Amino acid sequence: MPVIFVFLDGVGLAPTSPHNPLATAATPTLQQLLGGPLTQEQIQQQPALLLRAIDTTLGVPGLPQSGTGQTALLTGVNAPALVGRHQPYYPPVALRPLLAERSIFHQVQTRGLRATFANAFTPGYWQALADRRLRRTAGVIAAEGAGLRLRNLDDLRAGHALMWDITHALLSRRDPALNIPVIAAQLAGERLAALAHTHDLVFFECFLPDLAGHGRLPVSVADVLEWIDGLLAGLLAALRPQDTLLLTSDHGNIEDCTAAGHTHNPVPLLVVGAAARHFATVQDSTGVAAGIIAALSSP
Ligand SMILES: [Zn+2]
Repeated sequence: MPVIFVFLDGVGLAPTSPHNPLATAATPTLQQLLGGPLTQEQIQQQPALLLRAIDTTLGVPGLPQSGTGQTALLTGVNAPALVGRHQPYYPPVALRPLLAERSIFHQVQTRGLRATFANAFTPGYWQALADRRLRRTAGVIAAEGAGLRLRNLDDLRAGHALMWDITHALLSRRDPALNIPVIAAQLAGERLAALAHTHDLVFFECFLPDLAGHGRLPVSVADVLEWIDGLLAGLLAALRPQDTLLLTSDHGNIEDCTAAGHTHNPVPLLVVGAAARHFATVQDSTGVAAGIIAALSSP
């Protein structure tokens, strides 16, 4: 049973309120799927649809952060407890071996199954790593450790990869010389779904909500939520009966526009498809990896 894992950075699950953009933005796909917006009121469990609120604080004081939060999601290990803090942005060096050797990608590969990282990376990204202007995200460390091939602009142009900004609108604005056409978010979702035809675990990471929540994008929070909803529209329309969509996050941010940054809110664990039952008891971000393995292992 293939699993398509959509990782969204910085999306919490909060009650409906005028201060929750998830309740006020146009998200017709999520509304139709859940019977309402992606808020706590829509928590539910059906045979092929699950929405849970899962904890990301993991018993460690302070606001949840990406470096350790993403490590917990991708390894199933309580990364903040291991290093004694929530580490922002990138995983601490001490956690790199864990990510490289015990990630969900590695676990999938050792079972003889096929994992893939759907994101395309530009030459500029690899140069920024070489120049130490950027560091590797948890996802990239895990993918490299498992020996996955990371996709490039040729894959993107051929429709076999996605950019982290979904529509290429930000990419083409930042780097017009790459000449990458802007696409509809729905098409990105269809392309993501198609990768499950040849892989068991398809992983896509999107940093739009966290960056929008921090006010670091030239587009609005509402635009970002509209793109994500469009991605889900294309993805859900192209989902086959054997496919499962898994969507979750590393910490809250975008769901509370009164907070300057991250929140203590739980995050959504949204699962659509026959494997939803394997996630029915997940309590926090350390339980997601085991759910994926159980889903992939079920006949
Ligand atoms: Zn952040």
